[in-house]
Amino acid sequence: MSTRIFVDQGHNPSGFNTGVNAFGLKEQDITYLIGAYLAEIAKTDPQLEIAVSRRSPNEILGFNEKSDLRERTNMAEKWKADYCLCIHVGIHDDPDTNGSEAYVLEENTKAFALSEIILSEIAETVGTQNNHTHKHVTPAILKKTKIPVVYINLAYISNYEDSVLLGNAPYQFAHAIYSGLKKYVTGSIE
Ligand SMILES: [Zn+2]
Repeated sequence: MSTRIFVDQGHNPSGFNTGVNAFGLKEQDITYLIGAYLAEIAKTDPQLEIAVSRRSPNEILGFNEKSDLRERTNMAEKWKADYCLCIHVGIHDDPDTNGSEAYVLEENTKAFALSEIILSEIAETVGTQNNHTHKHVTPAILKKTKIPVVYINLAYISNYEDSVLLGNAPYQFAHAIYSGLKKYVTGSIE
C-alpha cells in the first residue's frame, strides 16, 4: 500500500496570497518548483503517491485568501491524503535568522515524527541549520483539516546564505524531502 502525500505548494503566483520575496527570489516560485520536483522524483515509487496543489506555475487557487486556503484543504481531502505537507520559506527582520523549521498542531504525533525526519534530511543534505519542529497554531491550514499537516519553512529567504540555497538548490530540497518521506514510510529511521 502506498502512502498518499498531498504537497501544498504555498502561495499563488500572483493576485492574492502571494508569497514573500528577498534577494530577487519569490517564495511562490520556489515552493512551486520544489513541489513539482518532488512529484517527479516520486513518480515511479510504488510506496509513495504525491499530488500537488498547484499543477502549473500560473495556476491561481481560490478567488480570495480564504477560498484559496479552502481549495487547498478540499483538494487534499478529496484526494484522501494521508498527510498534507505545506511548503513555505521563512522570513525575518534579522538577516542572521536562518535554518529549516516546521510546525505541527500537536507533538507526539505522526505528523511530528514525519516532520523531524524531513528536517534532518534537509539539514544533512542541503546544509541548512535544523531548527526542528514546533507545536504551533498560527498557520491556519493546521486547523482547517483533519489530515495530519506538516508546515515546513524550508529556509529563510531573508538570510543571504539560505536564499542562495533556495535559489540554487530546489532539486536538492525536493530530494531531501523525498528521502525523509521514504525513511518514514519504510520505517528505516536511525
Ligand atoms: Zn509562505
